[in-house]
Amino acid sequence: MAQLWAKKFYNSKEWRALRERLIVEAHFLCAECGENYLKDSAQLVGHHIKELTPANIHDPNIALNPANVKIICRRCHDKEHRRFEFGNEHNIFIVYGSPCSGKNSYVNQVSQRGDLIVDLDAIYQAISGCPYHWHPNGFKKIAFAVRDTLIDQIRMRVGYWNDAYIIGGYPRKLQREQLAFKLGAELIFIETTREQAKLIAMASRGTQGKEWCEYIDRWFDSFEP
Ligand SMILES: [Zn+2]
Ligand SMILES: [Zn+2]
Repeated sequence: MAQLWAKKFYNSKEWRALRERLIVEAHFLCAECGENYLKDSAQLVGHHIKELTPANIHDPNIALNPANVKIICRRCHDKEHRRFEFGNEHNIFIVYGSPCSGKNSYVNQVSQRGDLIVDLDAIYQAISGCPYHWHPNGFKKIAFAVRDTLIDQIRMRVGYWNDAYIIGGYPRKLQREQLAFKLGAELIFIETTREQAKLIAMASRGTQGKEWCEYIDRWFDSFEP
């Protein structure tokens, strides 16, 4: 079960900056299995060696101490915490924000095996066989239909899973609040600036960088806080 009390911490500016810095210092390598995640750094999470608790999470000497944080990949993180059991309580989260704001990084940090993740990028990849983050235009309608079907299954609580994370832009307030209401979900906003998101797009999306800057502009132009 995800630790609800830690969710705010993992979305804080301080934690996100520390995680980023440590990933660069680790040269994008997982400290456990040694795999290189340069092309998909969202898979890397910061694991607290002395485990976070509600009592110590506000203590920067533990929660934000670089010596207490190990950069490992999501797969190794699940093993580290032996996260394989299923609970019977479902928490549903809608994680929203601009493209390239770090939504996937956040979800990978707080989710665990047994959680359901609805990610439009992953749907595009599954149905097109194209690289992650590449959105062939003709696939848009069907990708959205697959996502909406998954969201419907979540609403009806079909299957056995722990928590569910729905990752999306959701710039319009009414749209995301209606979805949250329909699902009984909590909204989590991953904040960034237009400039910062574009820097990440140009650095990480290769030849698609320019296209992603357009998505980012579109998101910020329609965003309602
Ligand atoms: Zn690993
Ligand atoms: Zn951990």
